[in-house]
Amino acid sequence: MNCLWCDVEIVPETSWANVFILPKPKNLCSACMNELSVLKGKRCKKCSRKSEESLCQDCKKWDLHGVNDPLTLNFSVFDYNEQMQDMISRWKYRGDYCLGYSFKPFYTEAFEKEFISLPKDIVAVPIPLSNERMKERGFNQSLQLADFLPLESCELLTRVHGEKQSKKTRKERISALNPFKITKTINKPVVLTDDIYTTGSTLRHAASLLKEQGCPTVYALTLVRG
Ligand SMILES: [Zn+2]
Ligand SMILES: [Zn+2]
Repeated sequence: MNCLWCDVEIVPETSWANVFILPKPKNLCSACMNELSVLKGKRCKKCSRKSEESLCQDCKKWDLHGVNDPLTLNFSVFDYNEQMQDMISRWKYRGDYCLGYSFKPFYTEAFEKEFISLPKDIVAVPIPLSNERMKERGFNQSLQLADFLPLESCELLTRVHGEKQSKKTRKERISALNPFKITKTINKPVVLTDDIYTTGSTLRHAASLLKEQGCPTVYALTLVRG
């Protein structure tokens, strides 16, 4: 097969070690794979931000808001480097659905490693797009990520307000109306799926709504830590 990013042919390496065991299929050539930066080193246990402290300054603030943070933790797989920005823009904004598959092995591996101890009845819930965005793009990248996981995935949320959050201040974001509506209540734990964790407010809006409606615990697995 050819690399999903640069289109060169991927020649599977054969060695005595893998003659009898089929190597995992790769969707990116090794040069493109090397351009991606998998998050390593010390990170905030709650939001995956690079941090020497186990709870970063940002996460400490979420807990100060009177009520407990509705999001138990977010795990992110990649750093937001230039290669990732380019890949995300082709995947999401230029409708290259297939490119999403290049993230699949990393995303599922992170789930299997990091979320192994979670309850077995956990359900994947994608962050929804507005109807307008859906029409523009043709697919929801968060649903694609949810479908990669070895879990039941359930589109429980819909979006009632648009996506633009970045221009607001922190205070405005927190007090902003919840952009989501819930279509069905759930009493099982949930892992929210999304491409980027930036401020964390989108995931927290979703998490607080799910918890209000009976969901016991909300985790998140995001592809990139912005
Ligand atoms: Zn390549
Ligand atoms: Zn944090």
